[in-house]
Amino acid sequence: MNYDMPFCEKEFMISEIADAIRKATKRSTAQLHQPVFNGNEWLYLKDCLDSSFVSSVGTYVSEFEKKIAQYTGAVHAIATVNGTAALHLALIVAGVNADEEVLVPSMTFVANANAVSYVNAKPHFIDCSEKNFGIDPILLRAHLEKISEVRNGICINKETGRIIRALVPMHVFGHPCDIIELKEIADEFQIIMIEDAAESLGSFYREKHTGTFGRMGVISFNGNKTITTGGGGVIITNDDEIAESARFLSTTAKEQHPYAYVHTKVGYNYRMPNLNAALGCAQLEELPKILRSKRKLTSEYKNAFSRVKNIQFLDDSNFPDSNFWLQTLLLNENYSQYRDAIIEGCIEAGFQVRPAWSPIHSLPMYSNLPSTKLSNTINLSKRIINLPSGMGLT
Ligand SMILES: *Cc1c(COP(=O)(O)O)cnc(C)c1O
Repeated sequence: MNYDMPFCEKEFMISEIADAIRKATKRSTAQLHQPVFNGNEWLYLKDCLDSSFVSSVGTYVSEFEKKIAQYTGAVHAIATVNGTAALHLALIVAGVNADEEVLVPSMTFVANANAVSYVNAKPHFIDCSEKNFGIDPILLRAHLEKISEVRNGICINKETGRIIRALVPMHVFGHPCDIIELKEIADEFQIIMIEDAAESLGSFYREKHTGTFGRMGVISFNGNKTITTGGGGVIITNDDEIAESARFLSTTAKEQHPYAYVHTKVGYNYRMPNLNAALGCAQLEELPKILRSKRKLTSEYKNAFSRVKNIQFLDDSNFPDSNFWLQTLLLNENYSQYRDAIIEGCIEAGFQVRPAWSPIHSLPMYSNLPSTKLSNTINLSKRIINLPSGMGLT
């Protein structure tokens, strides 16, 4: 080999990273997250079609809800058309009103802030922890102590005069955040916690499933999530009244009656169709296998990246109870300027890698809202690269 013209550092990193992905996945190309249908999907879908109950009435919906409740350990599960609708509904049922504030991460998918906007409330952005990318409880507490006070059991933002009604932490890429600490703060400041567990089906925190720590939890079954129903979501909760209210509002607020159409509130057509639930029932049977294969992929990546410089691969020593929905590479400080070149290089090499989301507070419709300093979010979001993570890769 001719060493007179060495690769420059950037090209060297691109080729090392692409090589490590090739080595770990044993493929020449890979998508970010492709679903795999190896179980009873065809069988249940055919059964669903044969029954003619393809829409929001049907046995697969209740079966799917029952199985989600069992798996997560929640008392109730209410299946919805997607995770965003579940978040929207959860905020309504929690009683978030117009012109109130909801504490949300900026390091997240845009659906959190959008759901807050749907109820005409204001997102209030909290910075993330460097350790797990979720809302940092230490920063949150210091911030609330500084800017808020609890009057008559209601948390008021002294700077804006608005009520702070809810907190919506998220388990980023499936990695559990400091959810117990966050729940303690929410309780202390009289704020309702709704967990966005959209990405964390199969992730636990101290042996309790993510999404079961707050008043409600929300999980997504979009095509790129750990298991999929095509499109779909669910609200999980232990509260009977909340469950009833969520179910009622998700089915156009129609009163139970043998034939009459009586609606007593402005409801939503948010219930998951039976076809999607049939797919979900089959996918849920595959979940243990999917989780095992993600663990295996994590250890393949860990080996493959062990000698690559200037990066850190986040493995199970960082996140012992994660579902490893998306495998994550963190560029070292000072290498963020290579991120886009690395992403483009990997895509060119056949591997669909992706950056983290643009921080939500930097999007045009969400600038100029209350927030903590967001330096961790800004810094980390420039350094994260998600790797191909689907179960088909092991
Ligand atoms: C996927 C996702 C959602 C939304 O779920 P959809 O089913 O796509 O509507 C919400 N929040 C987070 C963090 C997500 O990753």
